[in-house]
Amino acid sequence: MLRSPAPSTRMRAVDLIRKKRDSGEHSREEIDFLVSGYTRGEIPDYQMAAWLMAVWIRGMSRSELAALTESMLYSGEVLNHSEIPGKKVDKHSTGGVGDKTSLILAPIVAAGGLTVPMISGRGLGHTGGTLDKLESIPGFNVNLPLGEFRRVLRECGMALIGQTAEIAPADKKIYALRDVTSTVENIGLICASIMSKKLAEGIDALVLDVKTGSGAFMKREEDAANLAEVMVETGKRMGKKVVALITDMDQPLGRMAGHSSEVIAAIDVLNGGGPADLRDLSVELSAWMFFLGERTKSVEEGRRLAETMIATGQAKEKFRQGIKLQGGDERVIDEPSRLPKARIHLIVPAAAGGHITAIQCEQLGIALAMLGGGREKKEDKIDYGTGLEFHKRIGDRVEQGEPLVTIHYNSDAKLAEAKSLVAGSYEIGKAAPDKPRPLIRRVLGA
Ligand code: URA
Repeated sequence: MLRSPAPSTRMRAVDLIRKKRDSGEHSREEIDFLVSGYTRGEIPDYQMAAWLMAVWIRGMSRSELAALTESMLYSGEVLNHSEIPGKKVDKHSTGGVGDKTSLILAPIVAAGGLTVPMISGRGLGHTGGTLDKLESIPGFNVNLPLGEFRRVLRECGMALIGQTAEIAPADKKIYALRDVTSTVENIGLICASIMSKKLAEGIDALVLDVKTGSGAFMKREEDAANLAEVMVETGKRMGKKVVALITDMDQPLGRMAGHSSEVIAAIDVLNGGGPADLRDLSVELSAWMFFLGERTKSVEEGRRLAETMIATGQAKEKFRQGIKLQGGDERVIDEPSRLPKARIHLIVPAAAGGHITAIQCEQLGIALAMLGGGREKKEDKIDYGTGLEFHKRIGDRVEQGEPLVTIHYNSDAKLAEAKSLVAGSYEIGKAAPDKPRPLIRRVLGA
């Protein structure tokens, strides 16, 4: 519950903003004052936004970061699922384009015998959000009250919901404010945001997928590694088993970005198909979840278990059960045509022949949002059928005029602008890059 500092007549938001602006270090009481005051509505958006920007510019010490994470964590309830036998595990990604692994690994891991109480986010900046993807399934309810969340978890072994007024409410408010004040890409703020909601879920172990590359918030691998390190340290300090995989986001994950088309791609993987990168990453993250959740003795055994859950159809059946229990139309599993789709399709051709040498992946996420497949303002409604279909990956050969991307859309209000962003995202050179960069760059905290 909200942790208020001892009443002090002297503490004022304006003084704390100045302190951070001038590179000062906050005490735990000062951070509690800001977080609890903002969550309760006593500190207005403009003061919190100014403080966030001061943090973005000046940074935070490790002890400030610990205080912020804990203050946000205790802004709501910390769940305890001890009535459900076995280990509870989760995964969180720092966000990317086409990243739908949660929809695949939650059913794999639940089918394999662990419990996955997943609290996810909506799209942030140019990245897509798990909650929005799930909501493209007709009827799917991501706003389950806590009692219902527990019931689904007990019955099915997995439940995917958003933050509530009860769980990490501080992050819910601060996350929305950061999205519109250019204060997302900051190691301390991302760490506190992710870890406060994940630690509130009542989990024993957490696998972090920290993205790096042109479509990630951390473009440089060193920054991604620093972020991973502070998140792992924060989780371990709070008594959890945590590992972080630094993974590639220099190009979209899979062949599709856009809400209903990502649900279809997830079902393809659960059916034993789907693109190799999406399948490999989903299996790898599941394997680490099995290992940290002590379901398997090694990560290798975890990989085999994940593959078995796919091959036997158990993971697909678990997804069907989860959709039904959360009010969704589970027939989408066999009849994906029940999902929203786009009416119009436009091919973006290659301007020249050669090899794809780089992709400006963030621009693809922005183009998707522009076409209605994301939010530009908090109140925007998402067009779930809108999507981008990627025909080429880095290193692929392409002929002039060959399709690079197919845009699937319903509204052409910003089509020309989006098309030119997509076309400009692909760099084509004479030779393929020397070495393809691996999907999984490194693992920290193992
Ligand atoms: N995902 C989150 O939950 N929070 C962030 O700040 C960034 C990505």
